[in-house]
Order: sequence, then C-alpha cells, then structure tokens
Amino acid sequence: MNLSIHQFICLSDNFGVLVHDPATRATAAIDAPDAQPILQALASKGWELSDILITHHHFDHTQGIAGLKSAFPRARVVGPAREAGKIAGLDLQVSEGGAVKIGSAEAMVLEVPGHTSGHVAYWFKSENLLFSGDTLFAMGCGRGFEEPAPVLYRSLMKLAALPPQTHIYCGHEYTLSNARFALTVDPENSTLRDRANTIAMLRENGQYTLPTTMALELATNPFLRAGEEGIQTALGMRGADPAAVFTELRERKNHF
Ligand SMILES: [Zn+2]
Repeated sequence: MNLSIHQFICLSDNFGVLVHDPATRATAAIDAPDAQPILQALASKGWELSDILITHHHFDHTQGIAGLKSAFPRARVVGPAREAGKIAGLDLQVSEGGAVKIGSAEAMVLEVPGHTSGHVAYWFKSENLLFSGDTLFAMGCGRGFEEPAPVLYRSLMKLAALPPQTHIYCGHEYTLSNARFALTVDPENSTLRDRANTIAMLRENGQYTLPTTMALELATNPFLRAGEEGIQTALGMRGADPAAVFTELRERKNHF
C-alpha cells in the first residue's frame, strides 16, 4: 500500500479519515464531519489538505467543509453529482465509474443508493481500499432513508463483489451495537461469535474496530448474508428471496 491512512473520531461516533500520498504529499479527508478535529489531525501529521471526498449529503458528513476550505482554500471538494444540490461548495461532481485522483492514487466512484439516493463510495482498487460512508458498516449497514430496502440491498451486493482483501473504512463506530444485533439473527455463526468477543474487548480498551475487510464482512455481516440458510432459518424465512430477507433484517435492526 502506497497510501498512509489516519483515522480518528469526530463528533460522538463519526470517523474522520485522512488519506495521504507520501509521493506527492496530496492528502484527502474522507467526508467532513467536523472541521476542528480534522484540522488538528492534519497538523499532528504535518499534512496539508488537497482534497475532500464527500460520500453523501448528511450534515454529519458535510458540516466541516466550510471550515476546512477556509483553512485550505485550494482544497478541492469532490462529491456525488446526484446530491450536488444538497452539498454546498462542490468543486467536482462525480458519478458511477468516474475516477478521482489523490496525488498518484486513483479512486473509482461507485454509486450505492439506499441510505441516501445519491450516496457514493470511493474504491482505491490498486490499494485495496474502500471508503463506504454510511452504506456498509462493520457487521451492519446504514438505514435506507431515501430508497426502499431492496435498492440498498443491491448497493450492498455491489460492494460485496469487491475483492475479499479490500480494507473498508466506514462513516461511524457502530460495531458493538451491530455485533449485538448480528448475534440475534445469526446465532450459530462461530466466526461471528469470535468477532463479537474481539470487538467488545477493543471497545472496552477504547480502541476502534475499523478498518474491516470484505472477507470478514462476508463471514459475519448479516446484511451481506441474507442468502445464507442459517439466517433465513433464524428469521423463519427459509428459501425466501434474499432481498426480502434483507428487508426483514433491516426492519428488525431499526427496532433493535
Ligand atoms: Zn448518513
């Protein structure tokens, strides 16, 4: 991997992430939950902000844009074309299949509607890195606020098809609560039980549970496993359409 990654908490449970290319010194912030901690993180690393990659329009991912721009006026703000009307100050609008250069590295833009209608993920294919925003979480997924559950499910399946060795950074530290829910719908999954124990220990020690990998998510994230017999049985939905199983999972998690 040619990129350096720095991850830290903003607000209460949002992740700030900086992606730095040592070769060119380009540095991107993934989303802008809060300018101050991001500026502090940049200063602590001695990095200068060149780009801001926005995944979706929600306030807790965009409210830091103005503060970052005033500190780094030349930083380029990149975000989804489909949400350009909801995100002030986009310099570059991107859509499916588009590419964004961060120094010498390149991210491919994947449209993943569901949580919001225009949500995008940024995939650095050569570096095996995915920034999934609020679409895919460790052992969870975002709520389908702006699209029906089957649309969100298609987006998750699109991400699930990326290489298993892909490292995934997400918008929030929600893993402990996600693990507790996952155990209720996939109780026989021993990999999940082991992971839930590991996660609980990490959180007790004040450590982050991300990044995760696609291989680990495929093995333990119930929202990627709606086609698995164990989950379908636990839900009383054996043989059902995975999109319908996913819809039921999402509904149960909403009330968990
Ligand atoms: Zn969101």
